[in-house]
Amino acid sequence: MNFADSEVVGSILGKAGYEVVEALDGADFCLINTCAIRDNAEQRVRHRVHELRAVQGRRGPGAGLRIGVLGCMAERLQSRLMEEEDNVSFVCGPDAYRRLPELLAQVRRGQKAAEVELSTTETYADIEPVRLASNGISAYISIMRGCQNYCSYCVVPYTRGRERSRDPQTVVAEARSLFEAGYREVTLLGQNVNSYRWSTDAAATVDFPDLLRMVAEIDPSLKVRFATSHPKDLSDKLLEVMAASHNICRCIHLPVQSGSDRMLKLMNRKYTVAWYLDRVDAIRRHMPDCSITTDVIAGFCGETEDDHRATLDLFRRVRYDYAYMFKYSQREGTYAARHMADDIPDAEKTRRLNEIIALQGEIALENNRRELGREYEVLVEGESHRSKSQLFGRNSQNKVLVFDRCDALPGTYRTVRVESCTAATLIGRLVD
Ligand code: SAH
Ligand code: SF4
Repeated sequence: MNFADSEVVGSILGKAGYEVVEALDGADFCLINTCAIRDNAEQRVRHRVHELRAVQGRRGPGAGLRIGVLGCMAERLQSRLMEEEDNVSFVCGPDAYRRLPELLAQVRRGQKAAEVELSTTETYADIEPVRLASNGISAYISIMRGCQNYCSYCVVPYTRGRERSRDPQTVVAEARSLFEAGYREVTLLGQNVNSYRWSTDAAATVDFPDLLRMVAEIDPSLKVRFATSHPKDLSDKLLEVMAASHNICRCIHLPVQSGSDRMLKLMNRKYTVAWYLDRVDAIRRHMPDCSITTDVIAGFCGETEDDHRATLDLFRRVRYDYAYMFKYSQREGTYAARHMADDIPDAEKTRRLNEIIALQGEIALENNRRELGREYEVLVEGESHRSKSQLFGRNSQNKVLVFDRCDALPGTYRTVRVESCTAATLIGRLVD
């Protein structure tokens, strides 16, 4: 989502006469887009800000490099961030990017600047993002902003504001213009895409499955992905639309957070394990070949060994294809920080996390071994990161397939037969 936001920022500043440069050397400004979801994300930003101090020192007065911090961390800390990091000249929250040209002008006049007002309506719908560091094949499209689910551990509702959806016509227009420019994959983004809703009047409401269908209808060779789905809102209508459309990817990211009902209640996730498993069954009923991925938090407030075991059990039952796994990190201002004790020692959180990671590693490898001999249509993306003599692409399930370099052009669809695998990658041979 930050990546997509940076592309909006690039567009706004481009219109104001600024230009994105490849290296810091030629830059007048360095804008750091930030995440506040866990403390380690913020620590990485602080580290980067400290490193930049050396670059600023080398430049000398007059030729200075001015640093701005954008996004969730700017929203969370506001001007406190500029007091704590005195080499930062401005902060700008996620709903205030249209004001960046003014902020930069103010900084050029030698002042510090902060704009952190949240909005209930801003979706940047009319801004055509500039594509940064793009492979020319896949792109992100933000379809909504904010979140008001208030999971008790989560800072997002405070840093990104109320949930609001973007006009579907602007989403379709952006996807179409990407397709016409040669892109072959778009990922529709929102904190909870299932609650996407746009209505001009009661009779004409566009919900997420409707929007997904509209984007998929642009062209059968445009792959359509989306993230993230909240389990409480995953509807059968969505699954029906997906199943009916070949170019909507067979891949659902369905963050579970915990396998214990007691924890889910404390987390304010608004579903039970039984509900979650029912949704997993529904996915597999509609699309037996759909991959399912998740997010999980180890060591949330009051988590017992039994709760942790319940998470491991759930992982064994669902058999995820991929999981993002985190240690609980207390975030100032959240319900959990205000009302619940962060009482699991760090070493214990680490042990639990490592157990989940080890189990998931085994499951992913077993899942991949079942793929041996299967053939997949793969959207070729380019050279493999590991070896110049290989290419890679991803299938509809979002799994990476690596195969020997050949005439396959990036942006085309080719058929690959899986011949071997690791836990993360399928290795195969072109068969078309
Ligand atoms: N809106 C998405 C997730 C956004 S944040 C959703 O609800 O699924 C991405 C992931 O970060 C979350 O799914 C959660 O697993 C993790 N996360 C959020 N807050 C966290 C915290 N305080 N500590 C550790 N992990 C956290
Ligand atoms: Fe955070 Fe929950 Fe909203 Fe996801 S749904 S962004 S975890 S509050």
